[in-house]
Amino acid sequence: MDRVPQETRSAIMSKVRGRNTKPEMLVRSVLHRLGFRFRLHGKNLPGTPDIVFPSRRAAIFVHGCFWHQHPGCRKASIPETRRDFWLAKLQRNVDRDAENVEALAAEGWKVLTVWECETKDMDLLSFKLDKFLSGSTRRGPHLSWDSSYTTWRED
Ligand SMILES: [Zn+2]
Repeated sequence: MDRVPQETRSAIMSKVRGRNTKPEMLVRSVLHRLGFRFRLHGKNLPGTPDIVFPSRRAAIFVHGCFWHQHPGCRKASIPETRRDFWLAKLQRNVDRDAENVEALAAEGWKVLTVWECETKDMDLLSFKLDKFLSGSTRRGPHLSWDSSYTTWRED
């Protein structure tokens, strides 16, 4: 009945849901190198964080700069054609992301958003991840519930 081979189906699903993307794989490899143990896709948590550290009560989202509108990022600029459509669609993503982070924080989780463009600099990424996970502070660097995250910017 199901004519799509399993691998193809998985590939399609991972594309649709944005799972196992290249930036996500890069973040995982840095975490491995740093020696942190983690779980993938916290399905029982708000927003299904990409990477979860249950004992640290820490969660990481790896977000594409365009789809999740990385504030101030060149990759997050809105297409000129069908501008209203894109504005509405992307704003929904931004709103949903903010809700998820708030829900996680309310349950006592600390949350870090790693942006796609941040995976270009592996040294800096490594530094940030280490700081976020080792730090005793409730909030890591560049956290997604800071004020800039919820501000809608138009370039
Ligand atoms: Zn970016």
